[in-house]
Amino acid sequence: MIRNPIPWPNGARCAVAFTFDMDGESLMHVHHAKDISDRIVGTSDLRYGPEVAMPRLIDLFAKYDMKQTFFIPGWCVKNYGSTIEEVLKGGHEIAYHGWLHGSLRDMSDDEEAEDIARGVEAIVAATGEKPRGFRAPSYTMSHRTLGLLQDHGMAYEASLFGDDIPYLVENERGHLVELPSHMPMDDWTQFVSFPDFGVRQTIKAPSQGYQVHVEEFDAMWEYGGLWCSVWHPFVSGRLARAMQIERLIKHMHDKGGVWFARMDEIAAHVNGLVEREEWSPRRHTLPYWTKADT
Ligand SMILES: [Zn+2]
Repeated sequence: MIRNPIPWPNGARCAVAFTFDMDGESLMHVHHAKDISDRIVGTSDLRYGPEVAMPRLIDLFAKYDMKQTFFIPGWCVKNYGSTIEEVLKGGHEIAYHGWLHGSLRDMSDDEEAEDIARGVEAIVAATGEKPRGFRAPSYTMSHRTLGLLQDHGMAYEASLFGDDIPYLVENERGHLVELPSHMPMDDWTQFVSFPDFGVRQTIKAPSQGYQVHVEEFDAMWEYGGLWCSVWHPFVSGRLARAMQIERLIKHMHDKGGVWFARMDEIAAHVNGLVEREEWSPRRHTLPYWTKADT
């Protein structure tokens, strides 16, 4: 059911990337700057991510010898030093996720350029390396973003929903590898009710969330796709949901033939295939439209 399937390394059936966006309290600082001292309850929920859930997830990945990718705003890299140390010690990738999780499409040209410079600088200060990939805060990629990612030497982008397998997003300067996901793979859709952000919905049982993800995985395994979660430690790192994550990892191991990889490794694999002319991905030129066709 996938035309032009991508060859995965060592004949793997599919690729799996458990990506987490560790937003921490950045969301509160950017959305409730005026009354943040009265946002105590919501802040405690967000702080659960870096302080309680992240160590749990890092332990879980270590148990299964998995190296994965965390998208982290620069502000969080700067403010959660011990968590960042644990991420690095575990062999995981820290990728870029804005400076303070601000909406990129609501920024001016200068503001977005300054935002990425500041965020990248925080990651370089903590890791000694420039980030290789990016996911847009709250899926707010702007018409400028691809060019700014190129300015900072990034190899991949992970905000879009345009395929079941990697493809390329490009402009006249060149391409980045797109590592797509889609909304059912974002845990906010299953598990978040958050009054501070106007999100009120019926929360699913952890096992119902598992069901969504296992069915998505089984399809990717069957047809050779990329299974890429967009999860958040404060949401999916809660105990009952973390138990379901372990159940999912076991299911994947039982099926076998899965390439568990960091996003930078997947992007490097795609670029290698393209350079060696062993596979031709689809290409999208961004932005899709410079003005509406009315
Ligand atoms: Zn985020």
